[in-house]
Amino acid sequence: MGRPKILVTRRITESALDRLHEEGQVILWDDQLPPSHDQLTGMLEDCEGLLCLLTDNIDRELLVSASKLRVVSTMSVGFEHIDLETCRNHGIKVGHTPGVLTETTADFTMALMLSVSRRIPEAIHFAQSGQWKTWDPGLLLGQDLHNAVVGIIGMGRIGQAVARRIFAFGSQLLYHDLSRVKVIEKEFNAEAVELDILLNRVDIVSLHVPLTERTYQMISHPQFETMKPSSILINTSRGAVIDTNALLQALREGKIAAAGLDVTDPEPLPHNHPLYKLHNCFITPHIASAGAATRAKMANMAVDNLLAGLHGKPLPNPVA
Ligand code: NAD
Repeated sequence: MGRPKILVTRRITESALDRLHEEGQVILWDDQLPPSHDQLTGMLEDCEGLLCLLTDNIDRELLVSASKLRVVSTMSVGFEHIDLETCRNHGIKVGHTPGVLTETTADFTMALMLSVSRRIPEAIHFAQSGQWKTWDPGLLLGQDLHNAVVGIIGMGRIGQAVARRIFAFGSQLLYHDLSRVKVIEKEFNAEAVELDILLNRVDIVSLHVPLTERTYQMISHPQFETMKPSSILINTSRGAVIDTNALLQALREGKIAAAGLDVTDPEPLPHNHPLYKLHNCFITPHIASAGAATRAKMANMAVDNLLAGLHGKPLPNPVA
C-alpha cells in the first residue's frame, strides 16, 4: 500500500505538519483564506485523510465525492461544519480537539468580559486620542464584575472553566444547561435556572453552548426583551447562537447595555456592518483559543486523530 494522501486546509504548527509528512503525501492549502468548496473538492480527490478547520464546510456533496476518504480531523472543538451523518454512512471517522483549548478560551472570555464591563477599548481610545485631560470622578464608569450576577449558558468544559474564574472574582453564579452539573453547584454555589429566568436576573451573560439546531439563534428578540437594560452579553461560543439582527436592534434601543463578541454570524462580519459602528459592541476576530501553546497542542491533537484513523485505530478524540 502506498503512502496515504492527506489534505491539510491551512498551514498549522510546523512540528504537527512534519508528523504528517512522515506518514503520507501531504497536500497543504497554504493560503491565508480558506479554499473554496470547488477547490476543496478537487484537492480531496484520492485523499484518505483530511485535516480541516472550522472555516471549511465539510458537507455531503464534498464527502460523497471523496471516495477514498477515511478520516476527517478538525482542529477545533466545534464540529457543526461537518456533516456527521454522511460521515457515519460512509464509514468516515471524525475527530476534534476538546479540552486542550478549554482554559485558554476561558481566559479569553474573562478578558472580553472585563474589557466590556470596564470599557477598556473605549478607555484606550480616549487616552490615545488626546482626550485625557484630568482625573474625572465620572469618567468612563463601568460595571464591576465582583458582586455582579453572572449567568453561564452551557455549563460544559469551557462553561465550567469560566465558572471557576467568575467564582474567584466574588460574583454570584447562575447557569442554564440541558442537565444539572452538581459539582459546579456545590463548589461555586451556582444555581441552575431556566433560560428566561437567567436572562432576567443576570448583569452579565456568557454563552458556552455548541451550535446545534436547538441553540441556533437561542438569543433573539424575545430573549433581549427579558434581559435587563444594564446587562452585558458575551459570546465566545458560535456566532449563530445569537440572532445578529436582534442583537443590533437590542444594542441600538438600549434593551441591553453592551456586547462582547469573539464570534459572529456571518463570520467574518462585512467591514461595513452596523455592529462595528456601535459604541457598545466590541468584536474580536474569533481568537478565544489563540494561545500560542494551545494552538500547537490543538494541531498535534488533530494530527493524533488523523493518524490513528489512517492506521485503522480508534481516534483518541472522536466526535461522539
Ligand atoms: P462542551 O460540549 O463541553 O459543553 C457544551 C455544553 O453546552 C454542554 O454542557 C451541553 O449540555 C450544553 N448545551 C448543549 N445544548 C444546549 C442547549 N440547547 N441549552 C443549554 N445548554 C446546552 O463544549 P466546550 O468544550 O465547553 O465548548 C463549547 C463551544 O465553545 C464549542 O462547541 C465551540 O463552538 C465553542 N468554542 C469557541 C472557541 C472560540 O475560539 N471562540 C473556542 C473553543 C470553543
